[in-house]
Amino acid sequence: MRDDNCIFCKILSGDIPSTAVYEDDSFRAILDVNPAARGHVIILPKNHAANIFEITDEDVSKIMVVAKKIATALKKTYDCDGVNILQNNGEAAGQTVFHLHVHVIPRFKNDTVDIGWKQGEMPEDLTVIAEEIKANM
Ligand code: 5GP
Ligand code: ZN
Repeated sequence: MRDDNCIFCKILSGDIPSTAVYEDDSFRAILDVNPAARGHVIILPKNHAANIFEITDEDVSKIMVVAKKIATALKKTYDCDGVNILQNNGEAAGQTVFHLHVHVIPRFKNDTVDIGWKQGEMPEDLTVIAEEIKANM
C-alpha cells in the first residue's frame, strides 16, 4: 500500500513535510506547494495507487465526498466564484506525480488560472464513438 519511491507516500508517512487541511482513515488533503491559486488543495489517498486504473473502487467512490468537503470549505473561506475539481492520469494528461490525487482549486471571475481545452467541432459519428466505447464497458 506504499511505494518507497513515491513522493506522496513519503508525505503521507511524514518523511516529507506538508501542510494538511483535512485527514480521515483513507485520505489526507494538503496544500499544493506550487498552487494554481491561493487555497489549492490536493487530496491524497493513503493507499498508494498510481492512477485511476489502479485505485480501488472503495477509495475512488469516497474521494469525491472529500472533494465536496474541501470545495465547500474553500467557498466559505475565500468566497470564490467557482471551484475546479480535477484529476490527471498519465503524463500525456498532465500527471506529474504518479500517486493518484484530486486537485481542488478555487476560481474567481477573470482570474488567470489556465485549465481548459479548445472545443472541437461536433463529430458526425457520435453514435459510432459511443458504440466503440460501449464495446469495452
Ligand atoms: P499532477 O500534475 O500530477 O496532477 O499534480 C501534482 C501536484 O503535486 C502539482 O500541482 C505539484 O505542485 C504538487 N506537488 C509536487 N510535489 C509536491 C510536494 O512535495 N508537496 C506538495 N504539497 N505538493 C507537491
Ligand atoms: Zn504513493
